[in-house]
Amino acid sequence: MSTIVMSGCATGIGAATRQALEAAGHKIIGIDIRDAEVIADLSSAAGRQQAIAAALEQCAGTLDGIVLCAGLGPQTKVVGNVVSVNYFGATELMDAFLPALKQGYQPAAVVISSVASAHLPFEKNPLAPALEAGDEAGARAIVENAGEQGGNLAYAGSKNALTVAVRKRAADWGKAGVRLNTIAPGATETPLLQAGLQDPRYGESIAKFVPPLGRRAEPAEMASVIAFLMSPGAAYVHGAQIVIDGGIDAMMRPTEF
Ligand code: NAD
Repeated sequence: MSTIVMSGCATGIGAATRQALEAAGHKIIGIDIRDAEVIADLSSAAGRQQAIAAALEQCAGTLDGIVLCAGLGPQTKVVGNVVSVNYFGATELMDAFLPALKQGYQPAAVVISSVASAHLPFEKNPLAPALEAGDEAGARAIVENAGEQGGNLAYAGSKNALTVAVRKRAADWGKAGVRLNTIAPGATETPLLQAGLQDPRYGESIAKFVPPLGRRAEPAEMASVIAFLMSPGAAYVHGAQIVIDGGIDAMMRPTEF
């Protein structure tokens, strides 16, 4: 049995992933705002530090894996929280858990990004300089002053910078023997997606985004890929972003990959 810390395990993709990993025999230490071993709010630096300290105590400083699912959608009321949870809620946890992962057996990490990470190139991502500099207040101010499109900017900008943050860690993590990958889900039937569909600003564009496979994904269809990435079968997969979107990306950007 291996020990895996997961964020965002209470609902949606995280809950399905927790189920899949537990069925495979792993012990999960969940971090979430509710229904988890560690209750913490990842939208603040203090909440993140509390989550890290409590999880490290529960695993006694040794981890075999981390899966970071916690995230907020573009419709979130306090739009700055999208940046805080999606970017800092993942990058700060990744970095803080690396020493514990180095002590683990065949350690691996999966971070949940999004197909939206490719909607905004890093060079044109207005959040990128602040996020890379660790300037949480600055990044929050940009999206909070962006008007009606602040939610989309916060979501696509934070997910783009998150995928880049993972890719930039591939060299060091690889040398440390810890595999690190992202998945980029397309529209998946979760509470986050339902809230987006019900939002008058974003609902229509989400609804008309129909992938070639003709339906949205089920959370279990993300969980099975995450479980594979965490398994020895994925021993040579490192620094990759696995797109799981029913073919949307191939349809929209056939020449870019
Ligand atoms: P969800 O809302 O069901 O799950 C999000 C989880 O994060 C929940 O367990 C929630 O309690 C937790 N969370 C939210 N705010 C938190 C906070 N401040 N502190 C601690 N935990 C917090 O949504 P989901 O769709 O399962 O999302 C999981 C991940 O997948 C997110 O990172 C999301 O951006 C990503 N994603 C989802 C879709 C989709 O269509 N559903 C598409 C692409 C990417």
